[in-house]
Amino acid sequence: MKLFHDKRLFIIGVCVISVIGFVQCNDIDEPESDTIAAGEFKIADMIQVSAGDIPLIISAPHGGTLTPNEIPDRNCPGITTVRDMNTTELADEIKYQMKQDYGVEPYIVSALIHRKKIDLNRDVDLATCGHTLGKEVWQEYHKKIGEAIQSAVAEYEGAIFIDLHGHGHEIQRLELGYLLNNEELRASYEGMGSTEELVEESSLKNLISLKPNIVFQELLTGEKAFGTIMEEEGIPSVPSLQDPFPYPQEAYFTGGYNTRRYSSDDYPEVFGWQIEANYNGVRDSDENRSAFAEAFSKAIMVQLEEYVF
Ligand SMILES: [Zn+2]
Repeated sequence: MKLFHDKRLFIIGVCVISVIGFVQCNDIDEPESDTIAAGEFKIADMIQVSAGDIPLIISAPHGGTLTPNEIPDRNCPGITTVRDMNTTELADEIKYQMKQDYGVEPYIVSALIHRKKIDLNRDVDLATCGHTLGKEVWQEYHKKIGEAIQSAVAEYEGAIFIDLHGHGHEIQRLELGYLLNNEELRASYEGMGSTEELVEESSLKNLISLKPNIVFQELLTGEKAFGTIMEEEGIPSVPSLQDPFPYPQEAYFTGGYNTRRYSSDDYPEVFGWQIEANYNGVRDSDENRSAFAEAFSKAIMVQLEEYVF
């Protein structure tokens, strides 16, 4: 595969509401892309897949840099093209740390193709703007996630799916997207409204169906919640015991296409959430990616022990 580096100016990204009503992430930078020469394009080169041995599947759809000429830059309405810098590296570091600390490995599916070509966290039409070859890459990405889930649930009763992203919001904290918005997270925390409806809307509904005795709010802000443990390990996170919901004026990503798809009725053994990682202190250096991965490993192992193993 022949690569040409195309250094680009740093730009400031913004966060917008998409046409389908779900928030989507834009990152803070756009450092480079790697062009692939005509005739050297292979679908398999656009995706990085790593097999695991525990029921944890991590998808990193927006970190790719490859810009094959065979697939034109997307230009249909409603698209976002900015990549989530260092999220492929973050997923790789998680894999390394889990092996180091616990002797286990998650399944990882990462995009190597740039988001300007395909958005692997959108439905196929918006993801590819209708391009035939783009659709084939999109199908391959989701096929690999499907295979990882199938392999995980063949051995265990359930599986956790994490969609890993990077945000450019002002507040430097992880935004954990359970498909509930600012108001719904607050209502849930304060015991307002129907818990059944919030559960049904959330990306944890399959877990609650499998294990009805679990208290839903404990999964979001309990002492053993993922966000709570990340906070204890020095990584600010919302929702968590320490930061239970984002305030109405605060930018917050609720979770996108992949989180919805892989926590739906089509995957009844699977539950999970989107992680939108801030840049400063998490994605910005080898040292911080390593510290994040160590905290992630500890927090996710508690979830696996509590709810899956
Ligand atoms: Zn993203």
